[in-house]
Amino acid sequence: MAKIIDGKAISLAVKDEIKAKTAELQAKGITATLAVILVGEDPASQVYVKNKKKACEYCGIRSLSYELPADTTEDKLLELIDELNNRDDVNGILVQLPLPKGMDEDKVLDAISPDKDVDGFHPVNVGKLSIGKKGFVSCTPAGVIQLLKRSGIEISGKECVVVGRSNIVGKPMSMLLLKENGTVTVCHSRTRDLKEVTKRADILVVAIGKPKFIDASYVKDGAVVIDVGIHRCDDGKLCGDVDYASVEPVASAITPVPGGVGPMTIAMLMYNCLSSVCED
Ligand code: NDP
Repeated sequence: MAKIIDGKAISLAVKDEIKAKTAELQAKGITATLAVILVGEDPASQVYVKNKKKACEYCGIRSLSYELPADTTEDKLLELIDELNNRDDVNGILVQLPLPKGMDEDKVLDAISPDKDVDGFHPVNVGKLSIGKKGFVSCTPAGVIQLLKRSGIEISGKECVVVGRSNIVGKPMSMLLLKENGTVTVCHSRTRDLKEVTKRADILVVAIGKPKFIDASYVKDGAVVIDVGIHRCDDGKLCGDVDYASVEPVASAITPVPGGVGPMTIAMLMYNCLSSVCED
């Protein structure tokens, strides 16, 4: 029986620590403020934005909401980002992705000041992560590290295999595991004999974007399995990139979907908002 890594409980603990810290800061007259920009009416994005605002409220972080129509021009959006970059009372800026078709996402994200880039997507912050300097780190992989550490799972010296090399999950995940002294291998769609590689993992992080792709035949006995994926499956339930029923009996610890990595992403966004106003 694998230990179930409870992302709900761990994310709540992180948010409670943030709440305590923001209360201390407020007593000194300092309030962290996050500006959230949503362009268009994508229902999933509306839910994500609502949840981010709710988390801000819980953590004592002020949120400013900018909900722009889908036909907003890229120039108008860039103007708003520029204005927010220059506002002293705004510490963090988040543009909810995906942007409507026709907008250049890279151009928009690069326009956010690296000092306010709480999503950790700006090339300056990505560069800082790769050379081990302090900067904002992409929330989902940062959340995975917290899940491991707070579950008492040692990373140093372990064989860590990351399946997926996206800019927001796989690549930053591999850099963070390396920073924690893991021995890291990154797999992708061109990896030859994926099973042979994943079966070496003491810690297997899966971010493929394919429902229930990883079953027990990819997993070494006793491995720690972290499932980043999130999908609405045919039965209407949420599932991950890992076939939980198949993998749970062979893993020593595993994250469920829902209730694993997902809640940590927002908690780490809150952490980044807090660190935009205080150093520790
Ligand atoms: P992407 O689609 O951007 O990347 C998927 C990666 O998986 C790519 O690097 C791709 O390789 C690799 N891949 C695809 N098929 C295979 C295969 N058969 N074998 C090996 N590697 C493969 O996805 P994201 O990183 O953005 O997201 C991954 C998952 O995590 C999704 O389910 C997403 O919904 C979820 N997610 C969850 C979050 C959360 O908060 N819980 C946050 C962000 C994402 P290649 O580069 O060669 O194409």
